[in-house]
Amino acid sequence: MSSSESVMNRIRFISTQSNSEPCTFTEAMTRGLAPDGGLYLPNRFPVLSGKFWNGIEDLSLQEIAYQFTEPYFETDDQKKLIHEVIMDALDFDAPLVRLHDNLYILELFHGPTLAFKDFGARFMARAYAGLHDRKHGELTILVATSGDTGSAVAHGFFGVEGTRVCLLYPSGKVSPLQEKQMTTLGKNITALEIEGTFDDCQKLVKQAFNDEDLRNKKNVSSANSINIARLIPQSFYYAYALAQLRKKFGNKHRPVFSVPSGNFGNLTAGLIAMKMGMPVSRFIAATNRNDIVPNFLKSGNFDPKPSIQTISNAMDVGNPSNFERILKIFNGSIDEIRSNIWGKSFNDDQTRKCIKDTFQNTGYIADPHTAVGLLASDVYMKQTGDELPLVVLSTAHPAKFGDIVEKEIGQKVPVPARLEECMNRPKQSVKMKNNYDLFREYLLANN
Ligand SMILES: *Cc1c(COP(=O)(O)O)cnc(C)c1O
Repeated sequence: MSSSESVMNRIRFISTQSNSEPCTFTEAMTRGLAPDGGLYLPNRFPVLSGKFWNGIEDLSLQEIAYQFTEPYFETDDQKKLIHEVIMDALDFDAPLVRLHDNLYILELFHGPTLAFKDFGARFMARAYAGLHDRKHGELTILVATSGDTGSAVAHGFFGVEGTRVCLLYPSGKVSPLQEKQMTTLGKNITALEIEGTFDDCQKLVKQAFNDEDLRNKKNVSSANSINIARLIPQSFYYAYALAQLRKKFGNKHRPVFSVPSGNFGNLTAGLIAMKMGMPVSRFIAATNRNDIVPNFLKSGNFDPKPSIQTISNAMDVGNPSNFERILKIFNGSIDEIRSNIWGKSFNDDQTRKCIKDTFQNTGYIADPHTAVGLLASDVYMKQTGDELPLVVLSTAHPAKFGDIVEKEIGQKVPVPARLEECMNRPKQSVKMKNNYDLFREYLLANN
């Protein structure tokens, strides 16, 4: 291959709005949102070889992750670094367990915060630390959080050299467990307890990003969930589920994946794996009453609404950001989207009943998000009569939602040691009035 051809073949990241300059992975990661307001996607997906897919059952999660990521990087140094990132970030398992017959659960809650967001947050933290331009020294990550994102990001960056995290959360407005997960880490993580609402926290962070003088003095960045560096690592475990399906269960069929969805990052990551050649039959968009995407699949109209509060609250999203990535991946074709994605929404009563029935029938304890995925898989199987293996993504450990789950199953949910530990550590937070000047002063003083 001549050198101009190899330049042509490089993968670049482009905006869903198509009005931004193509850029590298590192640039896309550092920017988060593209300058034109769109979300980043690769200009083409690297299709992995038949040899890779046929031999996948012998690969580990980390080996799959490296094959998935390596095509985005050009130099040997970058490839070596991304290998280290993967080895360090993905040091926990994502086991596939069989519930009954053709129904499997992919447990994505074995990371430090007991939710699948650990995959994206841990990968991104290490990639950031290794790849970003350090001309301003230490990198400060600002995150406004209403609960879950904050703890995943905080744990993701915990102890990562050259980085510091400032979490802003609304005082008295997150659950006690979420607060413990955010405020007991110490080291390079600081929790700012803002006397205000989540919107106030978000406003403070936005003001900091728009403050040019501050940005000249400090290297501030975000770890927003729309970041491409949080999305790509979520594609790895789809392929790893396929590997386990073949190896552990001897099932060679193309699976259907049921994905409990809110902002649709997780499902979009599955589409990325499919575009890289993964054999898959279909994806199921399982939602709570925030049914924007199931409605779109029915009517063809994308009609965002204010979010509705539910017991699967990490999926309470009324305007899923990743929808524009899904449109782009299928070139805007509704027919193509419909042939690859089937969707259904469920209410809280159905979700509670599913937690109860699943426990009674199988002994398995599902959290409310996973239960929505199970409900959708059940309807899908009945409607299609499919005999295909169906993999439900379990996005959180049931102990994270113990109060809801215990009412249905009539017994205690065992709490994993890593969660219990943080419940016993003292809370450390910095209380602060909702005032930008104070926040700015704090950031500049704490170098
Ligand atoms: C974030 C989250 C979801 C929704 O994932 P999306 O990528 O936003 O669709 C589902 N379950 C849990 C437990 C989550 O934390």
